Amino acid sequence: MKDPVLYTNACIWRDDSYDPGIRAVYCRDGLIESFFSENDVFPAQCQVIDLKGACLYPGFIDTHTHSFEGGLYSDGLDLSAFQSIPDILEAIRIKRRSIHAQGGNVLIAWGLDENLIREKRFPSLKELDEVCDDIPLLLRRIDGHSCVINSRLKIMMMHSGIKLLKQAVYRGNDNDVIGHWFHAQCNEETVIQAYSRAAEQAMKGGFTTVHSMIGDALNSITHYALIRDRLSQFPVEFILYPQSLNMDAAIEVGATRIGGCILADGSIGSKTAALSEPYLGTPENKGKLYHTNEFWSGFISRAHHTGLQAAIHCIGDRAISQINDIYLRLHQTDPKELRHQLIHCELTPDPLVERIAASSAVCVMQPAFDLHWGGEDGLYSRSLGEVRSRQMNRFKTLRSSGITVTGGSDWYVTELDVRFGLQGAICHHNPVERLNAGGAIDLYTRSAARLSHDESRLGRIALGYQADFTIMSSSIKDNDEKRSVGESACDFDSLQVLAVVKKGRIVYDRYARYR
Ligand SMILES: [Zn+2]
Ligand SMILES: [Zn+2]
Repeated sequence: MKDPVLYTNACIWRDDSYDPGIRAVYCRDGLIESFFSENDVFPAQCQVIDLKGACLYPGFIDTHTHSFEGGLYSDGLDLSAFQSIPDILEAIRIKRRSIHAQGGNVLIAWGLDENLIREKRFPSLKELDEVCDDIPLLLRRIDGHSCVINSRLKIMMMHSGIKLLKQAVYRGNDNDVIGHWFHAQCNEETVIQAYSRAAEQAMKGGFTTVHSMIGDALNSITHYALIRDRLSQFPVEFILYPQSLNMDAAIEVGATRIGGCILADGSIGSKTAALSEPYLGTPENKGKLYHTNEFWSGFISRAHHTGLQAAIHCIGDRAISQINDIYLRLHQTDPKELRHQLIHCELTPDPLVERIAASSAVCVMQPAFDLHWGGEDGLYSRSLGEVRSRQMNRFKTLRSSGITVTGGSDWYVTELDVRFGLQGAICHHNPVERLNAGGAIDLYTRSAARLSHDESRLGRIALGYQADFTIMSSSIKDNDEKRSVGESACDFDSLQVLAVVKKGRIVYDRYARYR
């Protein structure tokens, strides 16, 4: 592609709405240089790309992914569509055979939601060994917060000196240790391939920038430096997080932030998210805070005083309070524009919303969670009851309280595809938490850019901004409070990502239309 480039005949999204006054964007040296209306004379000496009436949005930004795992797992076995243990075991048996044929040496299966299969449980050790006994097998739950493994993997870990609790399903620390050990078996080439696959997937899903968590969530930032030194070779921009409690290592590699899914609590699905009231049907279980207040206070204060943006996974109201109270105290005693993150931030009763607004934390949320787990019969209702299920993923309430909310997929947990995020926000099961199209787009553009302090470079179609665009087949429409989730005004099934432009150049072109 030659520079400069003129994208013409487009329906252009400018901050809050489509701007009928402009139809073309002129990009030079990777930046947006000027706009033209229908009747203007276009500049000569540039490459002209006719978008034929398609919609041009600022390049969407996914603010929370596990790109390495996602890239690695996209070559593994996706269990999300299976409905019974025998079906899952048969799929593992077949996958094992194909791995053998390709000379592979590990089997990763992921995406299992045991609540959605007939037996409502994980496969047992015995069952797994029957279909895969000669290569290590890791089977992760859809949220990544629990897993089961086969005997082969167990023995290999024991030989490395790692002792696991004796239990059928691993959660908490053991789950982290297993995941880390498994990932550490990958060599550099496999790691880089995983990021390349992640970049491909991101472009298909409409993203030009992707926040990526790197590390084991405990003490290692694993291949952070490896990817940092190769950022320019990927067609999308990765914004890296040393996902670790090891602050010295983060400072040493020159990171400006620390964390990611470093866990204040677990998940709703694993019943480990920390709640102020018990889970429905289990009066003794309020989930679990993984660390003490003193621990987090020391960790976050050090990050704050060092000038690092902190990012911490917190799902239940008790965990969100624990982290936000520390952000609030620091904001009151030593305010800085660090924009600390509450990742997921799912259960937020009204008083907590007020305290988040006061702490100036950013809520890094996953609209697609509502598509998966919202609704009357959904996981949230079944685990928390009706009242609390309405306090989940409160996009509208949080935004109306002046809080910056950003969108992320948590890929591999949900798909790396902006359409699901937009749909989750626009068609929320709880009509009062629905965003209009502008609000939903904002989660992935201006607010997302603000999260990484890139608001003067990314997230807008404006003069001088980086020429990052997502080109879509049709417009994104508001929904109506009265509609049910299934009958949205916007036809998300037919909405397509046609192309992605990074720094003025087309890097993804779904139908090879624009070359
Ligand atoms: Zn995550
Ligand atoms: Zn998380």
